[in-house]
Amino acid sequence: MVGKLFVISGSSGVGKGTLLKEFLNRHENFKLSVSCTTRQPRIGEVDGTNYFFITNDEFDKHIKNNDFLEWAEFSGNRYGTQKSYVEKKLSEGKNIILEIDTKGALQIKSIIPNSVMIFILPPSFEELEARLRGRNTETEEAIQKRLQSVKSEIENSKYFDYKVVNDNLETALKKLENIMC
Ligand code: 5GP
Repeated sequence: MVGKLFVISGSSGVGKGTLLKEFLNRHENFKLSVSCTTRQPRIGEVDGTNYFFITNDEFDKHIKNNDFLEWAEFSGNRYGTQKSYVEKKLSEGKNIILEIDTKGALQIKSIIPNSVMIFILPPSFEELEARLRGRNTETEEAIQKRLQSVKSEIENSKYFDYKVVNDNLETALKKLENIMC
């Protein structure tokens, strides 16, 4: 039995993390792939759980060794999905979720056409900005960079199979369950 691959994207601050955490709590046969990143850990983030936090040199080495299924630069840092983890879990029959940016998502769709792509939308741009500021994890410069990337992310969302508005946790979860389960 082979598992299914789900790709979830959405702008920074859209609440993907909370939504996915709750989804994973309720559905044991789904696993979230842990990406590698060159970004610095935020307070509370754990190496190996949230991300594998690696150096630029280590990232270059992974690219050279063809270890990534996809990778992309986002807001000045690089992020990549490890091929070995995804292939192993899929062959064990687990459903895998990749929480990645839209550039990475489009790469996945071209390599694995039957992957299911879901884009999470904020209720509004104002709400998104408020959430991004409210979490207090980024500098003003980083927030501005992330807000600029929202436009291109939403532009790329036209290639996605499904769009889910995250206005209310329970409602958005129900929609995800209808698509994924
Ligand atoms: P953050 O720095 O807020 O954790 O993530 C920034 C962006 O990078 C988010 O859109 C997130 O989904 C994306 N991202 C996380 N891991 C990966 C990955 O492995 N590949 C790609 N392409 N994007 C990723």
